[in-house]
Amino acid sequence: MKTIVIIGGGLCGLALGCALRRRGVPVTLHEAGDYPRHKVCGEFLAGCHPSLLRQLAIEPALATARRNDRCQWYHRERPVLNTALPKPVPSLSRFRLDAALAVRFQELGGELRTGSRIRGRSMQSPGYVDCSGRRPNPGSPWVGVKIHLRGIRLGADLEMHLGSHGYTGLCYVEDGCVNLCGLFHRDTLPARTTSRVDYFAALLRANGLSLTAARVAECETDPASFRAVAGLDYRLKPSRGAMPASPEQSGSTPRLGDASGLTPPFTGNGMTLALESAARAVPWLAAWAATPNADWARTCREVARGERRGAGFRLLRARIMQSWLLNPRGQWTLATASRLRLLPFRLIYGMLH
Ligand SMILES: Cc1cc2nc3c(=O)[nH]c(=O)nc-3n(C[C@H](O)[C@H](O)[C@H](O)COP(=O)(O)OP(=O)(O)OC[C@H]3O[C@@H](n4cnc5c(N)ncnc54)[C@H](O)[C@@H]3O)c2cc1C
Repeated sequence: MKTIVIIGGGLCGLALGCALRRRGVPVTLHEAGDYPRHKVCGEFLAGCHPSLLRQLAIEPALATARRNDRCQWYHRERPVLNTALPKPVPSLSRFRLDAALAVRFQELGGELRTGSRIRGRSMQSPGYVDCSGRRPNPGSPWVGVKIHLRGIRLGADLEMHLGSHGYTGLCYVEDGCVNLCGLFHRDTLPARTTSRVDYFAALLRANGLSLTAARVAECETDPASFRAVAGLDYRLKPSRGAMPASPEQSGSTPRLGDASGLTPPFTGNGMTLALESAARAVPWLAAWAATPNADWARTCREVARGERRGAGFRLLRARIMQSWLLNPRGQWTLATASRLRLLPFRLIYGMLH
């Protein structure tokens, strides 16, 4: 069998590695960083069915996840919706999840090389798969931030707060810890502050979320968990590399997970999309590894075709919805519809997951 080389050991790369190892395919995975490590993520695995975890052979990594089943939405600090989620949502910190997946991958016989960043032309060699995450667009104004909190009580398992220039979510993860993660316009970023907690609180206040800022300021925070990323591109007409490529444009390296397309964070569906992306590619990559003289260019086209069919429309729907959530008129319409009990929450949830 030929070896599959995976670039990027986030959720997608590690899950792909586990599933290929389960089929006996030799896999080497290069991860630029190390484990465990915090990551900007809402840590809310919405839309993830247990059968997907079984298919990828990664259920043990989620054994300690918390199951969240209620959510509450706020518009400028006023509650507008409190409802049960259609299905309980597993929630686990990326600090714990990615490290558990890395252990699982090695248990299954995968070769993991941490601190190894793959660059340039070697990415285009046959057998190389790009799971290296999102492509930053320096022109995009959206910034993601996260921090872990303790000793804070939530109105529901997941609280979503719509602010003036962004939104933030708070959700329980493992061991009573709460993850606070948000997407904000860079114009609202505060000037330098003395601590990361003050920074987050100032950012929330700048977005009209003073009550949430006061709650954050009062509770215990884990400064080491603070992370921020810039250049997140969620426009309807995104830059190249931000939506699944057509099979003709896909080139000689299959792109999976965020490397193939970026979904707005409010859906809490990016991780599931990354896992689905890995699951769709497994049969093609395993067949290439097992077949002498197999055509790599055809494998790349088939993987790209699967990405477009499997994720293209869902990404587009989520981006349309996100443009509403980030626009004051759109926010007001959604909040009013919800207060009048006219918001078809389950239908929208179903369309996005
Ligand atoms: C603000 C925000 C909130 C979010 N909230 C949620 C949520 O609540 N629920 C949800 O499901 N999703 C959420 N997401 C999305 C989710 O985090 C991503 O969809 C998911 O992490 C994608 O996984 P991935 O493996 O494709 O990429 P990543 O997890 O980004 O992994 C990519 C890996 O590749 C490595 N790498 C990069 N370049 C190289 C290289 N050249 N060589 C070697 N290694 C390399 C990186 O170090 C990284 O470990 C959120 C995203 C943001 C920005």
